[in-house]
Amino acid sequence: MKQGFFRDKWQSFRAWQEQPITYQRPGKTKHVCKNCGHRFQGNYCPVCSQPVGQGRITWITMWQGFGQLWGIESRSAIYTLWQLLWRPGYLVRDFISGKRQVSYPPVKLLFIVAAVVALIQYFFPAPEREISNSGYYYLDFAINWLDNHENINALLTGCLFILPTWILFRKAPRYPNHTIPEGFFIQVYLALLSFIFSSIFVESHAISVVLTAGYTYATYKQLFGYSYWGTFWRLMICSALSIVIIILLIITGILLSGM
Ligand SMILES: [Zn+2]
Repeated sequence: MKQGFFRDKWQSFRAWQEQPITYQRPGKTKHVCKNCGHRFQGNYCPVCSQPVGQGRITWITMWQGFGQLWGIESRSAIYTLWQLLWRPGYLVRDFISGKRQVSYPPVKLLFIVAAVVALIQYFFPAPEREISNSGYYYLDFAINWLDNHENINALLTGCLFILPTWILFRKAPRYPNHTIPEGFFIQVYLALLSFIFSSIFVESHAISVVLTAGYTYATYKQLFGYSYWGTFWRLMICSALSIVIIILLIITGILLSGM
C-alpha cells in the first residue's frame, strides 16, 4: 500500500520533470479586446496582442506594476528557478529546442538574480574578500574584477566548457548535434545555479563547488542522455580541458604584466 503511494508520487514527479506545463486550448468564446476593440477568439488579441481578461485595476495589477520594474511581473521567473532546481537538464532542453514560453529568458534571469543578491547583500553584507596582489597587474586586475562580479564570473567560467562540451557531447543520444550557441545557453543556466549557490553559501566555497558540480552532472545526464559513467568521464575531460584554458589565460596575464 505504502510502496504504491511512493511509486505514484515518483511517477508523477517524473512526468512533471518531462512536461511541467500543459496548455489549455482556448474555447469558442468571442472576446472584445479592451485595448483596441477587436472581436476575437483565443487567449490573445491578434491585432494588438493584449491578453484576454484585462479589466479593472486590482491588487494583483498593483503587484504586477512593481514586478514589471524588475521584469518579473509573471510568476515564471520564480517558477523557472524552481524548475532549474528539480529538472535542470529538461529545462535546458526545452529552452534550446524551442519551448521558450515555459520559462523565463535565462540571461535576463542571471542579471535579475544578481540584482536581488546585491540588494540582500546591501542589508546583510558578505564577508570582505581578500584582494589579489601578486604583483602582476593584469592578473590581479582580472581576478579582483571577477571577484566583484560573481554572476559574470560564473558565466565566463561556464563559457570555458562550451567548446569541450561541443566536442565530447555532440553525438549524444538524447540531444545530438547541439550547436555552439546552444552550448552557450546550457552554460547560462549552469552559471545561474553556480551563482545562486555561491551567494547562499558565502562562507563555504566547498559546498557551492560541490553543489555546482553535482548539478552540472545532473543537467548533462538529463539533457544528453549518456549513461551515468558515460556522462561522468566526458565531464571529467571537459573539466580537464577547461583547466588547461584557465592555465593558458593565467600565463597570458603574467606575460602581459611583465611586458
Ligand atoms: Zn487588441
